[in-house]
Amino acid sequence: MNTEYRYIFEKGSKKHLCPNCDKKRFVRYIDTQTGEYLPEQYGRCDRESKCGYFLNPYKDGYTKAIWEREQGNKTDWKPQQPKRKKKPVNKPKRTFIPVEVFNRTRAGYEQNTFIQNLLTRVAFPFEVQDIEKVISLYHLGTVQNGYRTGSNTFPFVDINGNIRAIQVKHFDEQNRTKATDFLHSIIEKYHTRNNKPLPEWLEAYNKNETKVSCLFGEHLLSKYTYNPIALVEAPKTAIYGTLYFGFPEQPTNLLWLAVYNLSSLNLNKCKALKGRNVYLFPDLSKDGKAFELWSNKATEIQKRLQGTYFHVSDLLEQLAPQQDKEQGKDIADYLIKQDWRLYRKKQERIVFRTLKKETSQPEPEPVETSTRENSEKRERQKKTFFSQPEPKLNEPNYIKETERIELPKKEQPENWGNDIAELENYFASIELPTQPIKLNKGSTIKNCSLFIESHFINVKKNDGKTRFLPYLSRLHELKNHLNNQDFSIIP
Ligand SMILES: [Zn+2]
Repeated sequence: MNTEYRYIFEKGSKKHLCPNCDKKRFVRYIDTQTGEYLPEQYGRCDRESKCGYFLNPYKDGYTKAIWEREQGNKTDWKPQQPKRKKKPVNKPKRTFIPVEVFNRTRAGYEQNTFIQNLLTRVAFPFEVQDIEKVISLYHLGTVQNGYRTGSNTFPFVDINGNIRAIQVKHFDEQNRTKATDFLHSIIEKYHTRNNKPLPEWLEAYNKNETKVSCLFGEHLLSKYTYNPIALVEAPKTAIYGTLYFGFPEQPTNLLWLAVYNLSSLNLNKCKALKGRNVYLFPDLSKDGKAFELWSNKATEIQKRLQGTYFHVSDLLEQLAPQQDKEQGKDIADYLIKQDWRLYRKKQERIVFRTLKKETSQPEPEPVETSTRENSEKRERQKKTFFSQPEPKLNEPNYIKETERIELPKKEQPENWGNDIAELENYFASIELPTQPIKLNKGSTIKNCSLFIESHFINVKKNDGKTRFLPYLSRLHELKNHLNNQDFSIIP
């Protein structure tokens, strides 16, 4: 009778990595019947005093379970999983921006320069409904007070609805970027300046390795599962693309997403695009560097994302004069000068023709037509207000559904009676500051009560006259300024 053990230590001097100390001092077990190793957790580390790891298959039920199985008996015994101490199994958990903080951005569109430009100042203003729709789709918002008031917010919401970053963009009246920031940085600055401790979530958020770790518009991928994807650098371009080429509820329309900037196109960010058809529109650059960079990256990423197809559009490269290339213009700069109505139907032609790299006629410049909104209508659109949704506390930290944002179609009231009464009540209810106040870059108020008094005289005498609207606006501005002493974007 064979009394020798079936499972023995491997003979010879071969050593393996120890599952406990990760040193190459581990002797594994062999099944002498099959000549094969036992699972890698069985064996003994020969660093007896420093490590001492030893897992014996006769002691933890392994040999018995094998025997049972060989007898044809069922057993639900399972070996312990091998543990590797040093492997970075527990990556630090990513912290997201709380929904309450995000919700505070979702109003104030009447003072949002980016949005108001699209409604009134661009060459071909957009319909209110389209702007509402694009705000809802991409969760655009406003910095409503304090530092960077009137800036637009572009939240980066991932495919699971988590808010990974909120970019803050300050635009001029041509929608050119004047400054770029992040909401978390603004909130941090506010706290530091006022010697307040950072909110708990922000402490944790700052430990995230990367802040912009998903695509802008990524949350739309799970809702629009069939659309081809257009990928651009900047969120603003994705918004323009949507407004010009049409909304994604039409499954043949492009779904516009943005990576954040030229250099941040990478595999991790593109994982959410798996299985999709993706058209990339890099910005222009000197010597086509941006185009080249994205082409190379796209090839690399495509290889590692099965079933995903990247096509890099050289539309701009083909059409743009050298000067524009040096200025790094993008598709948004071209689009915004033209009438969006001409584009809604022809995206297929533009995108696909270019991608096939046909070098025939360039797309003719759309003819400027007299389709501008009349100024009256624009004036009305400019005065749209809507109520701020109450931040709901304790809701899960992700956005479930696209909420419909509505810009009310309320007409501008004929007179300012309500406004004036409200402002008078406000100024009567507070203690007016005695020191000079810097209202904005251009104006400083030396004597607050005189300023208020003279302004009220003017607005009351000229109630409803557009020419005197600036007086009313300045009173509002002062009220906002005084209110901002408690920066309400901060929890
Ligand atoms: Zn060891």
